[in-house]
Amino acid sequence: MVRSRRSTVVAALAVTPLAVAVLAGACTAGGSADGKSGRAHGDGGPGAAQRMPVTRLTPLTEADGYVPEGEGLEVSAEVPALERLDPELWAAVREAAAAAEAEGVEVVVTSGWRSERYQRFLLEAAVTTYGSEEEAARWVATAEESSHVTGDAVDVGYTDAADWFSRFGSEFGLCQTYANELWHYELAVEPGGECPPPATDAAEGS
Ligand SMILES: [Zn+2]
Repeated sequence: MVRSRRSTVVAALAVTPLAVAVLAGACTAGGSADGKSGRAHGDGGPGAAQRMPVTRLTPLTEADGYVPEGEGLEVSAEVPALERLDPELWAAVREAAAAAEAEGVEVVVTSGWRSERYQRFLLEAAVTTYGSEEEAARWVATAEESSHVTGDAVDVGYTDAADWFSRFGSEFGLCQTYANELWHYELAVEPGGECPPPATDAAEGS
């Protein structure tokens, strides 16, 4: 009796790490509380592939909001990186870009909404680049904290556009929220309001 009970316990323990991993994977892929992820999964869109870590066999795709480094999206491009932004943010960015372009400044979005695994991938890459988790955290937020994952942030490019946004973005409610990221904008005030001072960096801000 005692013996067979113990072997049952051992078997249960052996299974547990796998079960936990599977549950954790399911939660991170579909479990965001804002409902945006749920909507995309519900329409049969990105499913299994986005539950996988990024590997050569499961690379980042447009469905992750992926924008290759050095590239930019037109502000009205119909891709998940833009379509899964907060609609008010996307509208404000389009309006601001139209105003900038009327003044001869071209605006692209170098990053918008990102899947959680995309954000994790960026954070891991930043740890490699900056040499420590502490330094990486100044530049790349975790998947749980990133305003890109919730669809509440855009990175604008290129330099002239970021400069234009720093001067006129607040007319559209858009504010630079991290002092060290000249390109990162969020809806932070009413149109025409005064932007609050940015947080020092992603490690300080939330
Ligand atoms: Zn950003």
